[in-house]
Amino acid sequence: MDELKKLIAQIEALKSPEGGYTKEVLMSLGVPWPPPKGWKRKLIKQAKAMKRERKIFTSLERKAVLESHGSTCYLCQRPIDLKALWHIDHVVPFSKGGDDDMANLRPTHKVCNELKGTTDIRSVQFAAAWNKRAGAQ
Ligand SMILES: [Zn+2]
Repeated sequence: MDELKKLIAQIEALKSPEGGYTKEVLMSLGVPWPPPKGWKRKLIKQAKAMKRERKIFTSLERKAVLESHGSTCYLCQRPIDLKALWHIDHVVPFSKGGDDDMANLRPTHKVCNELKGTTDIRSVQFAAAWNKRAGAQ
């Protein structure tokens, strides 16, 4: 994350006294001219993607994550069958800078992980959706 903050500070420091960016500055950053909308966001996203690669977990690592949480899904608290479909979820999302350390990983059912993005896991809607999805699998 520090690298990212540094990059953002670097971009900010390149601003002209008038508060804008000159053509030369943007070209030096590899931004086309005229700069497309959201170029700063894109630049940061690009830097992030280059910096971080998603880890592929080995089956042993997956098993360790599952067992360190009592083979229980951290979203619905129901047991997870090792042979069933389950995911490793990042407590702090990977996209928000969360890392692949054990402390940031939790086992979840596939359904739970997919539902988490759209539904509050404590809600009645979540329970209903869970039952529907789990039944369909
Ligand atoms: Zn679950």
